[in-house]
Parts: sequence; structure tokens; C-alpha cells
Amino acid sequence: MRARPDRLLALLTGAGVDAMLVSALVNVRYLTGYTGSNGLALIGARTRTFITDFRYVEQAAKEVHASFARVRAPVNLLEVIDDALPAGELRLGFEEAHVTVAQLRQLRELLPERVELVAVGRLLEGLRAVKEPEEVQRIKAATGLADAAFERLVRGGLIGRTERELAIELERDMRQRGAQRASFETIVAAGAHGALPHAQPRDVEIRRGELVVIDWGAELDGYCSDCTRTVAAGEPGADARSAYELVLEAQLAGLAAVKAGVSGRDADAAARDLIEAAGQGEHFGHGLGHGVGLEIHEGPRLSWSSEDDLDAGNVVTVEPGVYLPGRFGIRTEDLVVVREGGCEVLTSVTKRLIVTD
Ligand code: ZN
Ligand code: ZN
Repeated sequence: MRARPDRLLALLTGAGVDAMLVSALVNVRYLTGYTGSNGLALIGARTRTFITDFRYVEQAAKEVHASFARVRAPVNLLEVIDDALPAGELRLGFEEAHVTVAQLRQLRELLPERVELVAVGRLLEGLRAVKEPEEVQRIKAATGLADAAFERLVRGGLIGRTERELAIELERDMRQRGAQRASFETIVAAGAHGALPHAQPRDVEIRRGELVVIDWGAELDGYCSDCTRTVAAGEPGADARSAYELVLEAQLAGLAAVKAGVSGRDADAAARDLIEAAGQGEHFGHGLGHGVGLEIHEGPRLSWSSEDDLDAGNVVTVEPGVYLPGRFGIRTEDLVVVREGGCEVLTSVTKRLIVTD
């Protein structure tokens, strides 16, 4: 992480600014190492400053990278930015995707005329999309932990237990194995409920013959994992089995397409073409995948509308689905690292249809 501020500096010139105010906490964390809930970073050729309030002074001393000067501020951190900026005329970039209208107005009021505020795009997000080896290791560890919790859950059986019970048990087990929390709200969705891609677990018991979509992940050391498996609670029937095989075939085609240099659009198409050819195109309504890292959804996107290209070091999901309203849903999702010439699958859970009681 030592190199991150330098990599950002190299982008500032291209963005037409002398310095940048980094205010999105996830980006502050990426850049400085700080994990608290109130902090800002200022970075430019002539400044490298981290700002927080009294509650986090000790935490910042431990966490913030030594190349940043640390400044203690009132709880409204914006009040000290002027003091932390170098003298003279200055073009100061701010994160347009994260600064509110009220914050921008306040910044304008607090800063002298010599400082010009310039909206800059997602520079940090661009850096974050390409993972360093140590970041990949952390995501791998989160994935391994989540996989183990899932396997234990399924061994215990599904029939007669409620979606909510299963979701809670999975989350509790991940925490017992060391996760800080689930990386997003666990989805356990049986039967027709599984046809909603973002279903919320209900107090409804799982019945024999239902397919159950389970989408879960762990957060470990700040890094997320993401996986989906569709499990059969007892024999699901021929239609469900053939739809399962279709989704799996599409998922394998998606995995085969993912490598450095491929567009997010083409990777999506590799999986989507198979589902469309089987006449189920209208039942696969979401994109093929998304980046995962400090956040559960980040760049690059794999979708028909994506403008991203895949780079070596991206960590992305490959997760086609088929959702038949009123009947069932199926999704199979792996987490992979994009490499030159292919991808490395981090998920270890089997993709053969699990039939359990
Ligand atoms: Zn997922
Ligand atoms: Zn996902």
C-alpha cells in the first residue's frame, strides 16, 4: 500500500488538479490505511495530510501510513482544510461522486479564492479495481472462510428450516470463523421467492422439492467475498435440473471468457448468448458480474452496458442466473482474479447441484 499515494499523484496531473481531497471513507482507507468513521486525506505534490477528530487520534497514529502528516480537527473536518493546503493558487480536486451539495457549498465558503474546486471522477476507484497481491490474499481468505461456513450449513440440511434461520446461522458461523461481518445481507430464497435476484430471507420454512438460492459473503480485514449457490432441498424435478445445467454451462462460458484485455461487455455476452440460445434470455435480467474488494460492488462491471475492460488483477464475480417468476430462480456465482490469458477461481464450493434434505 506504500505505492498507492504515488500512483494517485500520477493521475492528478491528468485530471488537471494540483491536489485532491479524498473524502469517501473507503477511499481514505485504501489510500492511508485508516479504518475509522471520520477522516479525510489531502494529497498533492506539496501536501500529504490526513485529518481526523479527537476520537480517532490514537487509532490514526497506529493505522495511517507514515508518509501522511496527521492533523487533528473539530468533528467537522472541512474546517481545517485551508490550513493543510500549500500556499499560492491551487486547483483542488474533490470526489464528485461522493461530496454532497451541502459539503461542496461549505467547502466553497471555507476556502479562500486562491483555491479552485474541481470535480474529479473516480480516480481512487480506478486504482482500487486492480488489486495488489496482498489484497488478493485477503479476498481469498474471506472466500475460504465463507465457503467453509456454507458447506457446514448445507450439511445440516435445509428442509423445515426458515430462510431467515439459515441466513442467521450462516452469518453467525462466518463471524465465529473470524469474519467482521457478512459482506452484504445474506440471501436465502426458496422456490418462487428465489426468482427475485435480491430476495430478503423470510420466516418461511423450506419445503421438499424447492430450489434454494443462497448468496452470501464474508468481510475479513475490510475485504469482501461474494458467492452464490443454488441448492435443491430434495429432488427438484426435471425442469429445475435442466435450468440448473443451463446456468452452469453459461457460468463456465463466462469464466472461460474472463481474461485481461476482454471487455466487460464481451465477457457478459459469452454467458448470455447461451442463455438466450436456450430461449431464457428474458429471464436473465442482470449483468454477469461486478468487481469486489473493499466494497461488495465496485469496478469493473461485466454487463451488456459496461464500458469497462478487464485488467490483470481485477477481482470480479461471474454470476449468471435464470429467474422464472412464480416458479424458481437459479444463480451460480464464483469470485475470480483476472489474469493474463485467463482467470483464477477463488471459490471452492462445488458447482454440481447439491441435493440435500
Ligand atoms: Zn453474490
Ligand atoms: Zn455478486
